[in-house]
Amino acid sequence: MYETSLRMAMVEFGDSLFSRGYTSGSSGNMSVRLDDNRILATPTNSSLGRLVQERISLVSIDGELLSGDKPSKECAFHLEIYRARPKCNAIVHLHSTYVTALSCLKGLNESDVLRPFTPYYVMKVSPLPLIRYFKPGSKQLFSAIASQAQHCSNMLLANHGAITTGESLEQAVNAAEELEETAKLFFLLSGRDIRYLTETEIQELRPRA
Ligand SMILES: [Zn+2]
Repeated sequence: MYETSLRMAMVEFGDSLFSRGYTSGSSGNMSVRLDDNRILATPTNSSLGRLVQERISLVSIDGELLSGDKPSKECAFHLEIYRARPKCNAIVHLHSTYVTALSCLKGLNESDVLRPFTPYYVMKVSPLPLIRYFKPGSKQLFSAIASQAQHCSNMLLANHGAITTGESLEQAVNAAEELEETAKLFFLLSGRDIRYLTETEIQELRPRA
């Protein structure tokens, strides 16, 4: 029942993201971790808008396919993140338009790409480190993601897109949407004099340890 409801949630969130233009074609992928550490992941070449519950890939934490279609090749970095972040139960990876545009800019601050100018971005996304460009699906990309995942729950992949994670699929999806909207605002504000949040304002938004 629990696994069925997570499969259903993947289909519903995928359809919602796709129908609102956060992803197109067969780009993007998502996964969730079950209680026993097995992973449900979107199959290779599938569209987030047309996922079929029974065909979703079920893989072990080591990447062995247990049932369903073959997972996307990017599933390998999902597994790296799950291994690095025990509390992470869901991952969303999108090539959404404004986030991808942001990822193509030169001279980004690699340790934290976007200086906060809205509170929700601070609460749901930041900090956002940059992973330098590597060929999609390459071992170098996967190991760069694995080492960054030790420190941060969300990241931007240069010339590619973003990865957001959460304790639930809803949390990872919310972070992906917040990041896309923030990137859109960043471009809308381009050339304008932005009042960034002050360090004190940012600190009071961060969850208390
Ligand atoms: Zn990708």
